[in-house]
Amino acid sequence: MTRSVSILGATGSVGLATLDLIAAAPAGQYAVTALTANTRAAELAELALRFRPRFTALSDPRQAHVLEAALAGSGLQWGAGASAVAEAASMDADWTMAAIVGAAGLAPTLAAVKRGKVVALANKEALVCAGPLFMESARRSGATILPVDSEHNAIFQALGGSDAASVRRIILTASGGPFRNSSLETMARATARDAVAHPVWSMGAKISVDSATMMNKGLEVIEACHLFALPPERVDVIVHPESIVHGLVEHQDGGLLAQMGTPDMRTPIAHALGWPDRMETSVSRLDLPALGKLTFEAPDPQRFPALELARAAFREGGASPVILNAANEIAVDAFLNGHVGFLDIAAIVADSLDQGEGVARGSLTDFDTVYAADAAARELAVSLVKARARRSASLAQGA
Ligand code: NAD
Ligand code: MG
Repeated sequence: MTRSVSILGATGSVGLATLDLIAAAPAGQYAVTALTANTRAAELAELALRFRPRFTALSDPRQAHVLEAALAGSGLQWGAGASAVAEAASMDADWTMAAIVGAAGLAPTLAAVKRGKVVALANKEALVCAGPLFMESARRSGATILPVDSEHNAIFQALGGSDAASVRRIILTASGGPFRNSSLETMARATARDAVAHPVWSMGAKISVDSATMMNKGLEVIEACHLFALPPERVDVIVHPESIVHGLVEHQDGGLLAQMGTPDMRTPIAHALGWPDRMETSVSRLDLPALGKLTFEAPDPQRFPALELARAAFREGGASPVILNAANEIAVDAFLNGHVGFLDIAAIVADSLDQGEGVARGSLTDFDTVYAADAAARELAVSLVKARARRSASLAQGA
């Protein structure tokens, strides 16, 4: 039987890896319902011509003419703007890959969840901002949420269908990123290029920087608490530079179950795409004798404060995780554009959490309150970025 699939964020690292698996599957196994992207119109058009979706949506209306010209005469349906992306997410695919980066993925991911089918969730920021609302929506619609993030996918597999509430704890592994062994002085001078050069994983720019600050692992702790309904004290993090063990479950009897594999996102994506069956992939196989040994160490809270900031935001609850995520998105973007330094990222997040009084602190009862908190937190973070950029400019002038 043909399975219909939609890819939200088709031009990204996860989106392309998903399409790679679909292209390699036997003919007729998958039919693409919808593809979406943000600004990369030419790349999206190329994917549309190759995979022939029923609908192609581009978020940025200013690039619509590029898509229009490329798809002219193809007979393919397309649209531009946020409403087109929403339409794409609402189409009746059996399986949806939610791989838009950031809080921008909230509304489209929710639209997919509301349809009550299978949602392969890569867009961790959506769960960080609105975890309880997403999980409740999935319960109501009957949607199955399959974790794509490699650690959560590993834990989902290691749980083997048993209830997470019955396990002692789960452990997320972290590669430690490019600055695992760097001094604070080196980190202070790090450029965007240094931060994006991940030692193990090949990923989009934003998550690569998150990995370098370890905010990625902080977001993942929150993601895990929502996905597996666990309190944060039962979600541990361990640095494992080889990134071979992706996640572990510790049972009451002291036994640990782990999922291992080459660090390649196509393995967890294939698990979600084939689920409940397994599919063949061309991912390179682990050669354990060649690997020789695996190493583990505790994370360093001094050099990587983002991890504790995320735990604190989750404990605080209300709008705090939304503020954490929004401030991080703004600060990472400012860092990638050379406006602030690497260590400023966690500092801006910390200041945003401290000064976030203007942002509704109460419980987030619906998605509108989440969007409002996100917008207010972004505004605050932008002003903090500007203040820091001004300060460094005047310091540089004074020097
Ligand atoms: P990426 O930057 O490579 O791709 C992001 C995709 O989202 C692109 O298709 C882009 O067009 C789309 N997009 C960006 N902004 C948008 C907007 N405002 N509106 C609509 N679409 C928009 O990112 P990625 O590395 O593929 O990561 C995607 C998600 O998966 C992130 O949430 C990330 O944390 C998560 N994730 C990624 C990896 C990985 O290996 N790359 C691993 C685990 C989890
Ligand atoms: Mg991960």
